[in-house]
Amino acid sequence: MLKNILRFDKIITQTIIGNHQNSKNISLNILRTDLLHEIISGNKWFKLSLYLKDAIAKGFNTIGTFGGAYSNHIIASAFAANQLGLNSIGMIRGEAPNNLSATLKYAQELQMNLTFLSRSDYKNPQKITDQHREIYWINEGGYGLLGAEGAKEILSYSKNLSGYQYIIAAAGTGTMLAGLVKAAHPHQKVIGISVMKGNFAMKEKVMDLLSDEEQQKQFEILHDFHFGGYAKHPKELIDFMNHVYATYHLPTDIVYTSKTLFALFRLIDQNYFEEGSNILMIHSGGLQGNLSLPDKTLRFY
Ligand SMILES: *Cc1c(COP(=O)(O)O)cnc(C)c1O
Repeated sequence: MLKNILRFDKIITQTIIGNHQNSKNISLNILRTDLLHEIISGNKWFKLSLYLKDAIAKGFNTIGTFGGAYSNHIIASAFAANQLGLNSIGMIRGEAPNNLSATLKYAQELQMNLTFLSRSDYKNPQKITDQHREIYWINEGGYGLLGAEGAKEILSYSKNLSGYQYIIAAAGTGTMLAGLVKAAHPHQKVIGISVMKGNFAMKEKVMDLLSDEEQQKQFEILHDFHFGGYAKHPKELIDFMNHVYATYHLPTDIVYTSKTLFALFRLIDQNYFEEGSNILMIHSGGLQGNLSLPDKTLRFY
């Protein structure tokens, strides 16, 4: 069974900066959900878990979902379905390439059935899902209430959760962010670092997943740390990732967690946080995405 290969006991909190180590007395801790599993790493398991349960309870034998060629969500869905004995369908954005990405090759090895969609068809998933009601469809990135409820679980792995004033994480669809807001205490502020350029619609999308009461909690999405856009990874970011690994022994991914940590350091410099703040960053996983880089770009993975 899938749950047996996931290592929930490996999720630790890694302190990379202690209160006494800087003049502002800020502590920075990382919740390492990347250590859960190499493939279904981090937030992808949490976001998928309730959908998978629902699909099985409703008697579906095939799940289908949507994503790009490097999508962590696609590979996690393929892996989970394979382990659970479900068939899986991946609707991939863009024309079929001559060479499949490492992510898609692996998804295929996991028996995922791939279909490539033009960008205009991809924008209208309902046309496809309406035609195939025998398939249990999961939105791109696991967006939806079950995804957010699943992601709420992430914070249960943080010991001493109430000791933090800030919780910070990367945000793509905002599903995980909604889950973190659900689980956060009223005195905490949840910060999402948007990895897409100008994705100002995300705020509404997050709000849609929250109850009236949850909407009163404190959360903010920051849009200035996308490094040029989704999956863009200029040399400055790569250098930062190598520096972080050398200094803290912390591997990060090019799409999400490196940008979030970079943002965090920048925000500390800009005095965004009061003196003495305790900050928890979610390492949401996604390291497999680094496989799309040329060899030796990174000094780890
Ligand atoms: C998918 C992903 C995210 C974004 O999650 P959303 O719920 O779509 O906002 C963040 N970090 C990693 C590593 C991811 O793979």
